[in-house]
Amino acid sequence: MRNIGRLCSALAVIGGGGTYALSASAESLLCQDHQLSVLSPTPEFSELACILAAEAKAHLLECGLHQSSPIEIVLVEKIEHAFGDCLATYDCRDEIIRVIHPQALGEAIEDGGPYSVLPTKIVFQALISHEMAHALLEQSSQGTDLAFVDHEYVAAAMELDIIDPRWRQAFIDAAPVSLPPKINLISSLIYGFDPRKFATNAWQYFNAEADGCERIRQIADGEFSFYVRPQKVCSAETQQRREKSADVTRRYPRDCSEADIRQAELEVWKAPQSGPRCPSQRMAASSPE
Ligand SMILES: [Zn+2]
Repeated sequence: MRNIGRLCSALAVIGGGGTYALSASAESLLCQDHQLSVLSPTPEFSELACILAAEAKAHLLECGLHQSSPIEIVLVEKIEHAFGDCLATYDCRDEIIRVIHPQALGEAIEDGGPYSVLPTKIVFQALISHEMAHALLEQSSQGTDLAFVDHEYVAAAMELDIIDPRWRQAFIDAAPVSLPPKINLISSLIYGFDPRKFATNAWQYFNAEADGCERIRQIADGEFSFYVRPQKVCSAETQQRREKSADVTRRYPRDCSEADIRQAELEVWKAPQSGPRCPSQRMAASSPE
C-alpha cells in the first residue's frame, strides 16, 4: 500500500521527470462535450470520468470560469515524479489531467486520512473536480499570473463544493477546522502543512462568503489574491509552527518578513519543477507578487 497523502494537483509540481503508469489497452473516448476526452483502461471508467468532468465543468461555469481549450483526462494506475507519488495532476502545458482510476485509488489513498472515509467514487469525483478547477482557472485567467495559493484555494473549494453534502461533512469531520473560516489559513504554507485542512478551510471560507463565486471570478481576473499577507499574521503562525516541528522549522524563515515568506514558498513549492512553465509558474518563480 502506497498511502499517498497528496494530490500534487498544483501546477507547481508538474515539471519534468514525471512518470505515469498507463494501461497498454487504454482507449480514448471523446465525451459528449467535445471539449473533453478521456483516455482510460476500461470503458466504464471513461464514461464515468466524462460524466464527472462534465458535472465539474458545469459547476465551474456557474462560477464564472470557462473552458477555452480541449482537456484530456488520462486515467492511470500510478503517478510519480520527483516530488513524490500523487493522486492527480493537471499539466497546463498540454492541458492533460491525470487521475488514478477508481480501481487503483483504494490502494493509493492514505490510510486513516480524510479521503479514506469516502467511497472511492466520491474521491474520484473530488479529484476530477479539483483538477478541472485548476484547468478552467488557468484557461480563464487568459495569461494573468495567478499565485499558487489562489489556484489551490479555487481547486479545494470546488472539490468539496461539488460532492454530496453528506460526504463533504464526512471529509470535514476527518480534517476539521474550527469556524469561522480564517483567511490567514489560506496560504501555501498551510497547504504544505496539511492540504486536507487547507481544503476544509477553503470550502468553509467559500461557503461563508455572500457570493463565493465572485471571489473566484476576481482571482481569475487578477483582481484579488490570497498571496499577500500582513506581516503580523505570518509572524504568529510561523513562530508557532517553528516551535512544534523541527522539520517545519527548516522550511520557514527566522524573520517573517514578507520577502522571506515569499522565498520560503518558492523553496517549498517551486524548486522541484523543471522544463517549460505555465504563465502562473513563471510569475511565481521569478517575481512573486
Ligand atoms: Zn491542486
